[in-house]
Amino acid sequence: MEAIGLFGGTFDPIHCGHLRTALEISQIGSLSEVRFLPWPTHALREAPSVGGTLRLDMVRAAVSCHPTFKADDRAFSRELPVYTYDVLAEIRSEHPLASLCFLSGTDSFARIEKWHRWREILDLVHIVVAHRPGSDLPRSGAAYDLLQERGVCTPDALRTSRSGHIFVASVTPLEISATALRQTIKAGVDPRFLVPEPVRDIIIEKSCYG
Ligand code: ATP
Repeated sequence: MEAIGLFGGTFDPIHCGHLRTALEISQIGSLSEVRFLPWPTHALREAPSVGGTLRLDMVRAAVSCHPTFKADDRAFSRELPVYTYDVLAEIRSEHPLASLCFLSGTDSFARIEKWHRWREILDLVHIVVAHRPGSDLPRSGAAYDLLQERGVCTPDALRTSRSGHIFVASVTPLEISATALRQTIKAGVDPRFLVPEPVRDIIIEKSCYG
């Protein structure tokens, strides 16, 4: 079965923590592609620092560095607020037979009960959770219960079923965060090697985060 990775985020900016995580999960799950889905805003976080067009440009520049990475701008054509569930439902309708794997860091997964229609998300996709430094897997609460109920120990299920499982992937821990990066850039520090070179070029040219 074809397995497609879906990575949503505000990507403000997209950085090497996102890209390396996507690459390693893509290899672990034998994903045919990973689609990066920038959100115009995030219901659970403060407004992004730079506008959607620029963030989208940075995502496009970043994915150009790898042949199976794609940018998917569909969230920008939706009415606000944009919910992950609705975007995933749209992609599911376009790929009724594929395995869809939604990538999430441990920090984001731990807050799953705040996601719109979170109980139904696993009807649409699998969730692949990446360990992120500074954020452990949940030890109690809704995310913990869901992990007990739907967690699988090997990535095989990602290729043999369309949706419904949670797989926790051990990826290289990279302590890079968009928030810290914005502060770094604001302080005048060069973000080289924390973001791909074409993303750094955009940040410099457009004076983002300065
Ligand atoms: P912030 O620094 O504000 O938390 P961010 O770096 O998490 O921002 P987002 O666009 O919000 O950027 O992240 C999108 C997704 O990427 C989330 O699921 C998040 O958990 C995951 N993610 C972000 N950084 C990493 C990282 N270094 N390693 C693994 N996953 C990450």
